[in-house]
Amino acid sequence: MHESANHKPATKVIHAGQHPEPVTGAVMPPIFTSSTYVQESPGKHTGFEYSRSHNPTRYALERMVAKLEGSRIEEHQDPSCGGFAFASGLAAISTCLELLDAGDELVAMDDLYGGTNRLFSRVRARSQGLNIRYADLADIGELERALTPRTKMVWVETPTNPTLKLVDLRAVVKAVRARAPGALVCCDNTFASPINQRPLEHGCDIVMHSSTKYINGHSDVVGGLLVCSDLKLCERLRFLQNAVGAVMGPFDAYLTLRGVKTLAVRMAAHNASAMTIARHLEKHPGVERVVYPGLPSHPQHALARSQMDGFGGMITFFIAGGLEPARRFLESVRIFALAESLGGVESLIEHPAIMTHASVPPATREKLGIGDGLIRLSVGIEDPDDLIADLDRAFALAHAGRSPAAATR
Ligand SMILES: *Cc1c(COP(=O)(O)O)cnc(C)c1O
Repeated sequence: MHESANHKPATKVIHAGQHPEPVTGAVMPPIFTSSTYVQESPGKHTGFEYSRSHNPTRYALERMVAKLEGSRIEEHQDPSCGGFAFASGLAAISTCLELLDAGDELVAMDDLYGGTNRLFSRVRARSQGLNIRYADLADIGELERALTPRTKMVWVETPTNPTLKLVDLRAVVKAVRARAPGALVCCDNTFASPINQRPLEHGCDIVMHSSTKYINGHSDVVGGLLVCSDLKLCERLRFLQNAVGAVMGPFDAYLTLRGVKTLAVRMAAHNASAMTIARHLEKHPGVERVVYPGLPSHPQHALARSQMDGFGGMITFFIAGGLEPARRFLESVRIFALAESLGGVESLIEHPAIMTHASVPPATREKLGIGDGLIRLSVGIEDPDDLIADLDRAFALAHAGRSPAAATR
């Protein structure tokens, strides 16, 4: 298939790294379920030996995401162009941490995804003896103080969850190259998706995704991805993906590839609807404050404009009155589903202090600004007018002090 690194994202999500299946010409790759591949003579094979190491369906997805993230590795250099798919986002991060040696220094963003924080602090600090330092990487001075010449990895998330704080990736890369030249800069790009932000273009070494979220986009697969653009690093990750074995299965790879084909149109809808809803919330008397990178009121709006091509589907807001109105609001919405996770076609709503971030100690939650009135929206691709009507109805019930059951009686 004709393909160019210069194609726009909406073209890449359909064609990048894809070829018709050679035997039948099938446009979508079959789900290759075989665990093993026949050899003509010992060691003489087609490049496929065993499915943990090589799987054509997984390769097709891995190449697609590698190209979307702008990896410069070509297929003749590496069969999946520097993209690697795993059984979950955390399996991807876990494999990435295997690049480090026991006792190595890792500097990480302070308000990480809760599961990432748990893996770092409660598993790898113990089992791998990692020396982990958390810092607000949005403050480059704080990053510089945390770095030492022995730092081996820097883990960044931008925008963060749920406070939607941004990190200036170019500034982070510059500080790391100056103070910790041996360190790899890794960016969890789950919240932005490669349509809105491509960290390799800003100098990061590794991009990570929970493909459970926007990349698959249909809330029906758990998966993770790593992408790099340097051939040496690619060889190390290829070795680790196979050696650790936390690979994505072929069914999941097929579904995720099917999902990613609509990533550009989905993100356009997420970006546009979230912007409309954020503006509406900002004017609503029942709202104390709205946090959305696309609003000029976001403290890092200028950075969002220079680093991102779109501002995403995630909105955080503080409902006036705190916990009780928040609880009634969450019980009252009808289209927004009260659920953890994000990035699917359906709109979701959640309360971080009680749900996704309950494991974060209250003092830390307060320091990060995760208050009791904070509500997180993952804006889906339904009609924004219906979503706004749903929110407005819930505001009326929440602030009237009635539960939805009482309202219908
Ligand atoms: C969900 C998520 C993860 C973890 O991914 P899983 O697929 O759930 O293992 C990591 N980072 C971010 C930002 C996430 O939202």
